[in-house]
Amino acid sequence: MKRTLFFLLPLLAAAPAFAQGKLNVVTTTEDLASIAREIGGDRISVESIARGYQDPHFVEAKPSFILKLTRADVLIVVGRELEIGWLPPLIQQSRNAKIQPGGPGYLDASLHCEILEIPQGEVTRAMGDVHPLGNPHYWLDPENGKRIAKDVAERFSQARPNDRAEFERRLVDFNGRLDTAEKRWLAEMAPYKGTKVVTYHRSFPNSARRFGLDIMGYVEPRPGIPPSPQHTLDLINEMKRQNVKLILVEPYFDLKTPNAIARETGGIVLVMPPSVGGVKDVTDYFSLFDYDIKLLIDAIKKTGAK
Ligand SMILES: [Zn+2]
Repeated sequence: MKRTLFFLLPLLAAAPAFAQGKLNVVTTTEDLASIAREIGGDRISVESIARGYQDPHFVEAKPSFILKLTRADVLIVVGRELEIGWLPPLIQQSRNAKIQPGGPGYLDASLHCEILEIPQGEVTRAMGDVHPLGNPHYWLDPENGKRIAKDVAERFSQARPNDRAEFERRLVDFNGRLDTAEKRWLAEMAPYKGTKVVTYHRSFPNSARRFGLDIMGYVEPRPGIPPSPQHTLDLINEMKRQNVKLILVEPYFDLKTPNAIARETGGIVLVMPPSVGGVKDVTDYFSLFDYDIKLLIDAIKKTGAK
């Protein structure tokens, strides 16, 4: 018995260096999970809390999420208060020091991104606006995708210094593929620059700016506030006046008001996912843009909306 232990001890002592295992990553959204997967490859395991077909502002907090967070080495969040309605208690109850805000494993993906619609003057959640710190749907610009990926690579490298070279190699590869894809998307959209659209929620300002859409109005009177009859009527009149035919709706909103607007204006409703996993065909960060751009161009051609 003593003899066996004698031989086992050195092995046990050495084990942690070999058996560090995969970096355990949790993200709040599937978009961040997709980017994390691009950078981490097989050196990480990654899981998203919210599904892409859910409204990321309002996710039902399940006990199983706490368990995921308890085991996480790194937590990547969208930030800008996107998750403020559901994430803070989950982080707290995980009792995982690493992933508390400010901890070594907590990464706010918005930190180096271009954020649009930062309110001038005071905006509080008491006013019902769910974008008090600027627009949190910033991942829908590939340029921000690159900024997120850079921060992710750095944070993964800090957590796993031995894998730094691999993370950096994968970052360069991701940026290269994204640059190529972005050129293609810009070329595809170029003929339709300036097309006017209406969106349900303010999910698309970054993609509209990058790809040349003109967002004329919103079905919601304010971000997070359901449509009201007066606002809907004003929107219909303005759409008629400006000949706007396209109404983009995120997959988690009721289609009743958008359909009514489409009937009144002769427009069409496009169910447009703002996230990976929003519809079945959108499985990663690249196919998200592929899908949305194709949906949009097909509709523009159909309606002659430009
Ligand atoms: Zn929002």
